[in-house]
Amino acid sequence: MSDTRPRRTFAVISHPDAGKSTLTEALALHARVITEAGAVHGKGDRRATVSDWMAMEKARGISITSAALQFVYRDHVINLVDTPGHSDFSEDTYRVLSAVDSAVMLVDAGKGLEPQTLKLFQVCAMRGIPVITVINKWDRPGLSALELMDLIQEKIKLRPTPLTWPVGEAGDFRGVLDRRTGEFIKYTRTAGGATRAPERRMGADEVEENDALVWSHAVEEHELLSLDEADHDQERFLAGETTPVMFASALQNFGVAQLLDLLLDLAPEPGASTGVDGAVREVDDDFSAFVFKVQSGMNNAHRDRLAYARIVSGKFERGMIVTHAASGRPFATKFAQAVFGRDTTSVETAEPGDIVGFVNAQALRVGDTVYVGDPIEFPPVPSFAPEHFVTATAGDIGRYKQFRKGIEQLDQEGVVQVLRSDLRGDQSPVLAAVGPMQFEVVEDRMVNEFNAPIRLSRLDYQVARRTDAPGAAELSGVRGVEVLQRTDGTYLALFIDKWRAQTTARLHPDVMLEELPAGH
Ligand code: GDP
Repeated sequence: MSDTRPRRTFAVISHPDAGKSTLTEALALHARVITEAGAVHGKGDRRATVSDWMAMEKARGISITSAALQFVYRDHVINLVDTPGHSDFSEDTYRVLSAVDSAVMLVDAGKGLEPQTLKLFQVCAMRGIPVITVINKWDRPGLSALELMDLIQEKIKLRPTPLTWPVGEAGDFRGVLDRRTGEFIKYTRTAGGATRAPERRMGADEVEENDALVWSHAVEEHELLSLDEADHDQERFLAGETTPVMFASALQNFGVAQLLDLLLDLAPEPGASTGVDGAVREVDDDFSAFVFKVQSGMNNAHRDRLAYARIVSGKFERGMIVTHAASGRPFATKFAQAVFGRDTTSVETAEPGDIVGFVNAQALRVGDTVYVGDPIEFPPVPSFAPEHFVTATAGDIGRYKQFRKGIEQLDQEGVVQVLRSDLRGDQSPVLAAVGPMQFEVVEDRMVNEFNAPIRLSRLDYQVARRTDAPGAAELSGVRGVEVLQRTDGTYLALFIDKWRAQTTARLHPDVMLEELPAGH
């Protein structure tokens, strides 16, 4: 039977350690009631691991992949698309955002807006993805709520519109004032946050004596916020001008149900998409989907290739023959077996907003469209500002042909960006990446797939700016900068650090040196 309940497809954007894993786990636990988090997770280590997920999946029937987590809440199906973050931060992390309709920006109350969060936010801004902000770790000392609002306004230029306001400062978390109803959502601390629903709603007149002082303080600030036009406005939120804010403690399980409610009430549902030729695909049109992530080499014996696609329109049914827009060829999902993540649980049907993984999808590349019926091709996934650079040379000169072929293929797939210049020649292109893990993938696939060992050596550059042909000419020979050309024709000027980039811009005012917003 197909599950046509309404969808919400979102991702969490955050800096490592802000609490994304803890929140993800708490969301999944809330969506399907269980009594003890400890039943799934070992004491002391609450980090979600693959085996935890598998156990959770078995216990509660949630479909989990390394790319997406699916669960049910209030008769909605929620797809949480993973944004790899620690050492596995890569161009994929940005690309994932092309597959979601909204994002939750998770902020550590003690640290404010950190670099990785800001980078991911830029991608959301560029793509017009509405962002809900969750201030996490309110159970421990941190910045003041007003300070955090200022930081948001200043750093991402979105108007924060708090939906809840903390009662008690960070570290003395009594609960929140629900700014829409004026109620106090009181929070009861539970051992390790293991049990569900530590929240109790009450009217302002029921606030107990020992909370009275902090409550009146919260009411005062709430009124000030309203005077300051910091109230939620759905239209402005969807237009990417404001960000609703709430306060939580993922570890203590507080605010988690509030967040799920917000996702259902405020976050957009899957909508129509426009193809490169301007054709619009409505969600109930024929099936279409685009690939936002490709994983290969997970199983060397099988040369496995798993392509994750987001369904844009129509119903997906396993076994369907779809057309691969890039080649015009049919792609049989029957043999490719569509799955949620692992090949043990194949999915029979899926709806717009869902993520499906096609196994053995040798032909599918990042950005590719597959469809049924009227042809459609969605715009390519853009490339993003690289921050890591290496030179690549064939490890075995006798296998140079294979080396070239491999590099070309990995470039096309978007595994890394390939940069070249006359000066460096074709023997030794520069590979550019958002995260260093992308280079590991290159090394591995060059050896195992193309039988072409590769030697990578690190370049000191950290910053890329976009320039043009005249800029490239003027900067040639200038110290501290090297200009190379990406396969798509874009000229990139590489610098050791931001400071060099700024100095060069000052000394060469006529040269175009644009900051690469992620996505160009
Ligand atoms: P991730 O790197 O963003 O996935 O962060 P984790 O979920 O692994 O959390 C990083 C650390 O912060 C862990 O030690 C968590 O236990 C802790 N943590 C996460 N959420 C909270 C919270 O709400 N309050 C407190 N005090 N600690 C938290």
